[in-house]
Formats: sequence, structure tokens, C-alpha cells
Amino acid sequence: MEFRHLGRSGLMVSEIAYGNWLTHGAQIDADTAIACVHAALDAGITTFDTADVYAGTRAEEVLGKALAGVRRESYELATKVFWPTGPGPNDRGLSRKHIIESCHASLRRLRTDYLDLYQAHRYDVETPLEETLRAFDDLVRQGKVLYVGVSEWTAGQIADALRIADDMGFDRIVSNQPQYNMLWRVIEAEILPLAKKEGIGQIVFSPLAQGVLTGKYAPGQPPPPGSRATDEKGGATFISRWLRDDVLSRVQRLRPLAAEAGLDMATLALAWVLQNPLVSSAIIGASRPEQIHANVKASGVKLEKDLLARIDEILDP
Ligand code: NDP
Repeated sequence: MEFRHLGRSGLMVSEIAYGNWLTHGAQIDADTAIACVHAALDAGITTFDTADVYAGTRAEEVLGKALAGVRRESYELATKVFWPTGPGPNDRGLSRKHIIESCHASLRRLRTDYLDLYQAHRYDVETPLEETLRAFDDLVRQGKVLYVGVSEWTAGQIADALRIADDMGFDRIVSNQPQYNMLWRVIEAEILPLAKKEGIGQIVFSPLAQGVLTGKYAPGQPPPPGSRATDEKGGATFISRWLRDDVLSRVQRLRPLAAEAGLDMATLALAWVLQNPLVSSAIIGASRPEQIHANVKASGVKLEKDLLARIDEILDP
């Protein structure tokens, strides 16, 4: 496993991180989830991503249980706040009240005294940005949070946050967590230029387009049993946007390119994301330990320029 700085910060993260959306506390049982976390640690993954809202807070509990007893300094723990975690009007968003309360609840569920990275899961249009940034800064000063990041904010929102932090002397955002994969390259237009200028690391999610880029979904064929596309607990809904014959056909056309490069499809897709030096880490999901062992092979793989150009031709970004 190779490691990169999270943006301009001193924090090192593993090129492949492991996230537990839709899996822990939902699609897979607790024993399999714990086996996945240990497979990740054995494979050199040190960065773990979760959120207060995943599986109605159960995902954090499972991850906390899985990491209990592992030397705290040997891994980086990232979680998030924003989406509703309860019925009340203050059980959501980025108010000072919800950020502080949600952080405390996450620390309890994750069985730790501090988070390495605390991320605003989305932008909150109803709360003044100064209030949000001051609440995060307080958590940093209290030692409960070491670094602050955001997820799926626009370039304008990130730029505003950086300006306010600089003016007010608050801790700066170090990372952004956007979706990025061969089929979804939205961040290349505005986010990446800003990230380069400001040193914001991209810790990207769904690098395999939820499994579609492994090539296991063939056009016109039923999805493989046990895959996310068959997961009635939520996964099937989220992946459905990708399960169109035109998309799946283009993905199949990548197969000979992967074979020529001596890679499997998942490795090609993950290595593609990591070719960009602004990407600090690719957060994979996994429903089985074997997927983790397969996917970590992408760390350190260099792709030839010619291969990247041929991928562009097929996918027509
Ligand atoms: P991926 O694109 O890596 O998809 C993961 C899924 O693909 C697995 O659960 C598995 O599903 C399948 N898969 C993985 N490896 C293989 C393989 N080698 N062969 C075959 N199938 C494979 O990422 P996710 O969409 O799961 O997202 C990863 C993480 O990103 C999340 O856990 C979360 O931490 C973060 N995230 C953040 C969001 C945000 O808003 N900030 C939003 C979404 C995710 P299966 O076996 O069931 O088919």
C-alpha cells in the first residue's frame, strides 16, 4: 500500500481507503463486516470512512466494534455529519448544536476519543457558514477532531469556507469527498482547479461506480446474485442509475484494455482514479474480504498515457 498526503495537510492516508456505506449494519452481517475491516487492515489500508447516518447509525457501531483493540495510532478514522439522524428539527444540518451533538454521538459509537477527519456531508444552506466553521474549529481546538473536510460542496462553497477561515483564524478545510470514477468526472471542471490552487485533497467515493466498473454487470443480463444491484436494503436503488445497457456496454469495451495492461477491471478503474495527483485516496466499498484483497492491488499502479487516451475514447467524457 502506498500513502499520500491529504491535500496540503500533514496527514497521510492510504491510497485505497475502506468505507462502509450500504454494507455495515445493512447488506452484510456483523461478522462479515468485521472480517472486511480486518482484511483491509491486513492489506495495508489505514483509512476508514463512515458517516453518522449510514444504516441509521449502525454502520459506525459496527466499525467501532471492528476496530476495538486495534492500536488507535495505526489507522485514520473519518466520519461525517449533515443528513438527519433523528426526527427532531436539530437532528440534521450543520448548526453548532447538531455538529457538536453528532460528533459526540459518533465518538461514542466509534469507541474513540477523537476523529482524524470530520466531514460536512453536504452544504447546509440554512445555517450561516461562519457558525458551521466555528463549530468545527471548536472541535479541533478541543482535540476531538484533528482535520476538517467537506463532501460534495461546490467550488464556490469551498472557496467561501476557505476565505472565512482565513479571515477568522479558523482551522482550514483540508479535504473534499466527491464522487469520482471513470463514468463520473464532474469534479474535473471546477473542483480540481480549486483543489490544486488551495491544496484541498480529494478523498473520492464510489471509484468503482458502486461495482459497475468491475464489469460484473453485463448488458441485458440479470445482476449477479448477492451483488449491490440485488440488495433490497437500499443498494439496489442507489446503483440503478448506472444499470443502463448503453453504460454497461461501454464498460464491457474496457475489458480488452484491462487485459492488455495485465490488470483486472477493478484494478484498472481504481488505478485510473489514482493517476490524478489531486486524489489523495479512493474509498472503496466491499461486501466480502476477497474484494478488498483484489482492490488493494491498484495502489502504486501506473497507467500509460496511450491507455488513458483509449479509455477516454470509449467513455467519451
Ligand atoms: P465502490 O464504487 O467501491 O463500490 C463498492 C461495491 O462494489 C462493493 O460494496 C461491492 O458490492 C462491489 N465491489 C467492490 N469491489 C469489487 C470487486 N473487486 N469485484 C466485484 N465487485 C466489487 O464504492 P461505494 O459506492 O461502496 O462507496 C465507497 C465509500 O465511499 C462508501 O462506503 C462511503 O464511505 C463513501 N461514500 C460517500 C458518499 C458521500 O456522499 N460522501 C456517497 C457514497 C459513498 P457488491 O459485492 O454488493 O456488488
